Amino acid sequence: MDLFEYQARDIFAKHGVPVLPGAVATTAEDAKKIAEGIDGMTVVKAQVKVGGRGKAGGVKLANTADEAFTHAQNILGMDIKGHTVHKVMVAQASDIAEEYYFSFLLDRSNRTFLAMASKEGGVEIEQVAEETPELLAKVPVNPIDGVDVAKAREILEQGRFPADIIDQAAEVVVKLWDVFIKEDATLVEVNPLVKDPSGKIIALDGKVTLDENAGFRHADHEELEDKSAVDPLEQAAKEKDLNYVKLDGEVGIIGNGAGLVMSTLDVVAYAGEEFPGQPKPANFLDIGGGASAQVMANGLEIILGDPSVKSVFVNVFGGITACDEVANGIVQALALMHERGEEVTKPLVVRLDGNNVEKGRAILNEANHPLVEQVDTMDGAARRAAELAGAK
Ligand code: GDP
Ligand code: MN
Repeated sequence: MDLFEYQARDIFAKHGVPVLPGAVATTAEDAKKIAEGIDGMTVVKAQVKVGGRGKAGGVKLANTADEAFTHAQNILGMDIKGHTVHKVMVAQASDIAEEYYFSFLLDRSNRTFLAMASKEGGVEIEQVAEETPELLAKVPVNPIDGVDVAKAREILEQGRFPADIIDQAAEVVVKLWDVFIKEDATLVEVNPLVKDPSGKIIALDGKVTLDENAGFRHADHEELEDKSAVDPLEQAAKEKDLNYVKLDGEVGIIGNGAGLVMSTLDVVAYAGEEFPGQPKPANFLDIGGGASAQVMANGLEIILGDPSVKSVFVNVFGGITACDEVANGIVQALALMHERGEEVTKPLVVRLDGNNVEKGRAILNEANHPLVEQVDTMDGAARRAAELAGAK
């Protein structure tokens, strides 16, 4: 989960990383009030989860609260690289003597943590990496050893930080490491990390990505999620504990087991090429092992609630949950939805195989639901579901 800058700043402050006081606002009036409470110049900054806000005109310095009001008015509603600005942060502005770059990140390809540091900050770091790679130090960090002052100094020296601020910057880096480890982040980036004219080091912009898989360790992380940006179907699925990912096709997919569902997506995409409009999978949905009728109903409800879905492919390989249970689940799910007044109008293609397959197929034949059709093979069922989605 990527955080907004103001959220990253709050987390920095919590761990003792030096930041400047400020607050977030959704209206120009509130921005002005915040500016009135701050001594001296302020900076009004667009809060969008994308870099390069400065260049796009989303970061403006204000001499007075009225100026902060005007900047906020101009920045709110602005589009920055496809992101609409709904919030601005108003913070005390700093005079800048020098701008540096610093980050910790999870380096997946090398299976380690990595620190990156450069005395050339402020600008886009990709540019530094490309044009003057020798100025961007990349230092692996052993997760067991972590980062103490000595390691921090080593990283900063490789990033060619000026000698006079290394001690102070090293202390900040140790605190950034705290943020990285204690908050279970996969990215902590400060650009720019600045030296002000008095020689003080301050984190002026922060970017933090939190590891959602570690969310169970951090009750306070949930409220950081930007609910307005989450796909409503994915949000509804999450509330029902379903493993659902929205895709942009027309064939709804339900299966048991992530591997089976992944290969179902491939088979459906391939089969779809033959039919008009070339229907593709509309989603990933793994209902897992022991899927009850309730789970099946929840899954069907999410998928049928997606207006782009034209047909549904239920692909189940009976294992721990036998096919007869799944078949009962489908029948009960349809009954449950009927009771709730949610009429199913989209065709369901069901392929059952594996444990108790004969019983399962018999149950569906018996129920004889007008919209449920069984096909015995995965390829055949994928073709049929694609055909039904392509026909309309
Ligand atoms: P980004 O463009 O999205 O990375 O946004 P930043 O927060 O990094 O701001 C972009 C640039 O605006 C920085 O590199 C600074 O040069 C400038 N800036 C940001 N905050 C301040 C501030 O408090 N004072 C001054 N003088 N400049 C600032
Ligand atoms: Mn920045």
